[in-house]
Amino acid sequence: MRGKTYQENKHVELAALADAVMAYAEERVRMAPPLDRPVSEAELRSRVGETITPGGIGGVDAMRLFAQDLAPTCLSTDHPRYLSFIPCAPSDAAVMFDLVVGASSIYAGSWLEGSGAVYAENQALRWIADLVGMPSRSGGVFTPGGTIGNLSALVTARHAARACAKPGDRPYRVAATAGAHSSIASACDVMDAQFVGVPADDAWRLTGGNLRAVLEENGPETFFAVVATCGTTNFGVIDDLASVAEVCREYGIWFHVDGAYGGAGLAAPSVRGLYAGIEHCDSFIVDPHKWLFAPFDCCALLYREPSLARAAHTQKAGYLDVLTDAPDWNPTDYSVGLTRRARGLPFWFSLVVNGSDAYEAAIEHTLDVARFAEAEVLRRPDLELVRKRDLSVVVFRRLGWEPADYAAWSDRMLAEEFAFVVPTSHDGETLARFAIVNPETSEDDITAILDTMV
Ligand SMILES: *Cc1c(COP(=O)(O)O)cnc(C)c1O
Repeated sequence: MRGKTYQENKHVELAALADAVMAYAEERVRMAPPLDRPVSEAELRSRVGETITPGGIGGVDAMRLFAQDLAPTCLSTDHPRYLSFIPCAPSDAAVMFDLVVGASSIYAGSWLEGSGAVYAENQALRWIADLVGMPSRSGGVFTPGGTIGNLSALVTARHAARACAKPGDRPYRVAATAGAHSSIASACDVMDAQFVGVPADDAWRLTGGNLRAVLEENGPETFFAVVATCGTTNFGVIDDLASVAEVCREYGIWFHVDGAYGGAGLAAPSVRGLYAGIEHCDSFIVDPHKWLFAPFDCCALLYREPSLARAAHTQKAGYLDVLTDAPDWNPTDYSVGLTRRARGLPFWFSLVVNGSDAYEAAIEHTLDVARFAEAEVLRRPDLELVRKRDLSVVVFRRLGWEPADYAAWSDRMLAEEFAFVVPTSHDGETLARFAIVNPETSEDDITAILDTMV
């Protein structure tokens, strides 16, 4: 150490650190990722022990510790046979640029601090708004996920409804179907609002007719929002957005559309027709970390009238006056939360690098693989389709199987690092479910997994 300045030593350390981190990141992006599998805490404790020491172990050893002992116990959500929940399969461009965002110390809550990043994020939001068909004045913000996106939209909806409610009226209800995402009920709990279930139609959709009946029964003035889903998480059901929009307009109730998973299908001409009516929404979310090839964690939240969101969400404090008093577009004013990472940038960068045509092609490709999976289920006598697919989720039953059979099948595939496909349930019945959003998932992967259901 002696003879070298503090700065020189820092540069030597940085070079080694950069080699270790960059080499790992590049290799991870290049490789066909292993599925990997979880281990117990006891096993990690014996393998890894305490990692934080008074002196530190240095970048190279710390990187080795992560690569050798920790990373292999984390499932690769971008593995082509990871079909559980909703996978996350980011593009190379998005992943690499996530490193840049991390290295850049950008505060993306305000225009003053992050103007170029906010400008770029807003272009990505505009691209989505155009897919939805929202007017030019619409805008919003990237939040950490659909849960915060939905909560933020509902907080805005309630704020707007109460601002124009008759004296004494305090609208407190939200209408949606049982197929709406769990985050809607959770948002209602957080807000002390009441979730009112609307019966779905024969195709499991929310419809204007059923919505009207529920509003009339409970008093329309007690509702501040209706939530429609374009692509329910469990089955990919798209609600009848046009008739729901019409009833919302008639009663003057906020129309929120949750497209966290399925909103990406707006970019695919083969299914775009299913979304008719979505252009009337007051707010909309889609998670680029689901079917738009961005890394965790990223939700795009859009409002038809952003000023209503600003009124609901702007935090006021003396130390923030310089921001709140400026006429600028400050992303933090449009959702729950103050400090924010420029989490929309990896998604924006990937769109810029690849072009929107590549997005259309990649989404259409996953839809083709989902069509293949559905056809295979219909073709195989042991399997039975539960509901005809709208998007890229396929749910089916294996005739003769009990819940324990599904669990054993799923556990075995993970233990062998062959595939990660957890069962789901509907109306108390255990079922098999594929969620296909990874362009690397092939028809052969589907066949190989179905072949194990003997
Ligand atoms: C995943 C999902 C959410 C929640 O999004 P997170 O990013 O997991 O918080 C909300 N709604 C729908 C329809 C979803 O699929």
